[in-house]
Amino acid sequence: RKGWLDKLKAGLRKTGSSIATVFTGTQIDDALYEELEAALLMADTGVKATQHLLDDLRRRVKETKTTDPAAVKGLLADAIAELLAPLEKPLVIGQHKPTVIMVAGVNGAGKTTSIGKLTRHLSAEGASVLLAAADTFRAAAREQLGVWADRNTVEIVSQEGGDPAAVSFDAVTAGRARGKDVVLVDTAGRLPTQLHLMEELRKIKRVVTKADATAPHEVLLVIDGNTGQNALAQVRAFDDALQLTGLIVTKLDGTAKGGVLAAIALWARERTQIHPDLRPVPVYFIGVGEKLEDLETFSAREFAQALLA
Ligand code: GDP
Repeated sequence: RKGWLDKLKAGLRKTGSSIATVFTGTQIDDALYEELEAALLMADTGVKATQHLLDDLRRRVKETKTTDPAAVKGLLADAIAELLAPLEKPLVIGQHKPTVIMVAGVNGAGKTTSIGKLTRHLSAEGASVLLAAADTFRAAAREQLGVWADRNTVEIVSQEGGDPAAVSFDAVTAGRARGKDVVLVDTAGRLPTQLHLMEELRKIKRVVTKADATAPHEVLLVIDGNTGQNALAQVRAFDDALQLTGLIVTKLDGTAKGGVLAAIALWARERTQIHPDLRPVPVYFIGVGEKLEDLETFSAREFAQALLA
């Protein structure tokens, strides 16, 4: 466990140190809050989440009547951890057999790698996994998924140049027939220009429901933690089209933009207020490296501490 935290800290350090240095002075004054605001914005926390955290922090400082800047750092860690806490939730499989997990994400976000890692994680828990290569447009995507399938020794449903929705339908049907615990559907992250990605993904989702009326049980979006506020824009767009049920945030081992998690947490909170009927969108996992084992469950407290290390 310690290894990944170090990776996370190393990744966030650039920002972390700039946030941490805000608290090395002797006074809690407007200058401190201004510096902190700048540091949070630098970490891609975004204007709204930064304002939220600053307001919350001022309230905590007032309540505790502290005069020590070093103690304010601890209060900020509390504020960040509290904001991020609702994002912490385990991915539960086993309520449906198979549990059908659709995975989306723009090319390069780390989707295929994350599916490989997730396959390993689920297999290690004793679940049988079937992969569906529904990104039929890119031969490379199919091949890469095949490599992950081999490394994890799991079966894969793949069809050269086939229809993505048809491949997904076949995979869910095969998953049921073969008694698999999980079917992971890898979708395209970009299409030939004349086609609309969101329409394609919606079609896959609809067809998966035709194969199994309760499916998909999870619709995950993989985002690159390195892309900061752009990642939040992707979350909004994919959620509008697909109604997401969870996120995987990758590349947190090499980023100074970890603050985006706070922006996502605020978005998730407002989403639940506006649409209490929708399932929440937790961060099921974070990616902290390129290897199969570099997938970790998200911990709000640990993340807050790493951000301020
Ligand atoms: P896809 O196009 O979304 O399927 O992206 P890939 O899974 O092919 O990943 C794109 C690149 O990001 C590859 O070089 C991966 O090794 C790398 N990558 C994926 N996840 C992580 C991560 O958590 N940390 C790091 N450092 N690299 C990652």
